[in-house]
Amino acid sequence: MPATWSESVEKAPTGGGVGITSHASRSTYVPLHLRNRPPSASADPAPSAAVSYAGTLVGNESQGQGGAAVGGFQSYGPRNDRGGGGGGGGGLSRGGGGGSAWNNRNGGWDRGREREANPFQDDGVPEPEFAVQENSGINFDAYEDIPVETSGKDVPPPVNTFAEIDLGDALNMNIKRCKYVKPTPVQRHAIPISLTGRDLMACAQTGSGKTAAFCFPIISGIMKSGQSAQRQPRMPRMAFPLALILSPTRELSMQIHEEAKKFSYQTGVKAVVAYGGAPINQQLRELERGVDILVATPGRLVDLLERARVSLQNIRYLALDEADRMLDMGFEPQIRRIVQQMDMPPPGVRQTLLFSATFPKEIQRLAADFLSNYIFLAVGRVGSSTELILQRIEYVLETDKRSHLMDLLHAQRANGVQAKQALTLVFVETKKGADSLEHWLCINGFPATSIHGDRTQQEREYALRSFKSGKTPILVATDVAARGLDIPHVAHVVNFDLPNDIDDYVHRIGRTGRAGKTGLATAFFNDGNASLAKSLADLMQEANQEVPAWLARFAARSSFGGGRNRRGQGGGGRFGGRDFRKDSSYNRGGMDMYGGGSNMNNGYNHSGGYGGGFGSAVTSAWD
Ligand code: AMP
Repeated sequence: MPATWSESVEKAPTGGGVGITSHASRSTYVPLHLRNRPPSASADPAPSAAVSYAGTLVGNESQGQGGAAVGGFQSYGPRNDRGGGGGGGGGLSRGGGGGSAWNNRNGGWDRGREREANPFQDDGVPEPEFAVQENSGINFDAYEDIPVETSGKDVPPPVNTFAEIDLGDALNMNIKRCKYVKPTPVQRHAIPISLTGRDLMACAQTGSGKTAAFCFPIISGIMKSGQSAQRQPRMPRMAFPLALILSPTRELSMQIHEEAKKFSYQTGVKAVVAYGGAPINQQLRELERGVDILVATPGRLVDLLERARVSLQNIRYLALDEADRMLDMGFEPQIRRIVQQMDMPPPGVRQTLLFSATFPKEIQRLAADFLSNYIFLAVGRVGSSTELILQRIEYVLETDKRSHLMDLLHAQRANGVQAKQALTLVFVETKKGADSLEHWLCINGFPATSIHGDRTQQEREYALRSFKSGKTPILVATDVAARGLDIPHVAHVVNFDLPNDIDDYVHRIGRTGRAGKTGLATAFFNDGNASLAKSLADLMQEANQEVPAWLARFAARSSFGGGRNRRGQGGGGRFGGRDFRKDSSYNRGGMDMYGGGSNMNNGYNHSGGYGGGFGSAVTSAWD
């Protein structure tokens, strides 16, 4: 942002204005990410997610003790260094006494001075019933016929309802609170697989319910075991989580943590988040208070491990979200360090769950190092293989992009689309490009904000909140926002600059059409994107989208090597990946690496057959 604009920030306008405030005789542009900040924002840089547990201290230490195994729930006692066992026979690591049933739902943790906050804020509201509950507008019925493919040895059958699986009363109650009527396809398959203790490599698009798919079995498993975060009296400041969930970005980690808090409410299981860009002290304090599920970004976790503030020796569950990105060149060394070179139990001892929208074969090969006798699960791409997202590709010269975008936004406005409930996400290639497009949109009367890697954590969170709330219904983003973020109501994704990689395109357009809703994705294409033409045309064709004739010509010209993704694998296909163990090159010598066939079904028609080689148990009607 040029200095002339940023130097005169003063009283910010309220609401979603353009950000030009009248300043005596001149107008002053206020960057969107600096508007409407509470006065205390700069004084307290701690992000809201990180302080949420600290908000409910009980005044008297003795009040907070024990959790008291209300109604027999396995509750966790306070730390011994805070003075004694809790009412439920709480001890250092296990609440123990009186807890006959692990699934009593009054088991909110209450550790020492800290009591669990209600993430649903529905205290006093009558308990929700499945019979009367609604699905908050999410149309997961659109997922019903999505193809699902599983492979591996002895794949447990999928379930059709949450009632079929014994997750425990407290978790079931939270599922109702979340208004989840039935499991999504990835949940139908992944939850029963994980509950049997099997390792899993799951390929499902963001927006398909992945977070719950790995959180439910972890929370349920910890509840059943009756264990809580172990402590070593000699190392009171070191945290010993039982589950570790790693994700590549701070925002995604925060989002997973928010979800995990909801799912684990009153289960006695406590989730804590640690990510870079935020002050570490607050996170250290959270960890000291005890943690069962640690959600973290790799960099911050390495820092915590080096400071000897976290030990991974008790990890029973390891989940990697956006696993393909985590094992890509940028992160792989850090992940290997965390998983293989610290004190984490090896595969086979811990359970490992890898989730990603795309799983290129090379990444699968790397990931196999972290897994033991795993099941591969692929759920069809929602964003690309269904018609939920209307994909439009337009030929636009670099110099015309801005005015073209303006036309789109004006048209949206004319149609009443740019409402609070219909957000537009604009992807650009560079941070500088994001800044300058945000600025340009603002001065042209479109309330926009931006998010990219040069923004401070606080600014990123502020921008996301402002966007999600509809205050600034246009968000200009680099790929930092492309993965995993669950932003409801994104009606339109604009690829102002197309990515070089078709996988990234899939991730980006996946920000709309989420959770079964329809969405629109527009991309500006020109000669500079020629290498993407082939895979783009294939992807669109597969999703029954109209492929413009000019794009087909580009595709035909560039079909030799063009448009393949960075790992040398075409990005098209119903699934974001296929089990690489099926490759004859992998399966040398006729040895069946996972001992028995693969299964395809549509989520409801599980064949149950495992005999006789790959694809022998194909049951779906679509194939
Ligand atoms: P995720 O893929 O985890 O980001 O989830 C996408 C969205 O789907 C989130 O808003 C979830 O709260 C929602 N969701 C997840 N599972 C279900 C379910 N079984 N029923 C309804 N909504 C769900």
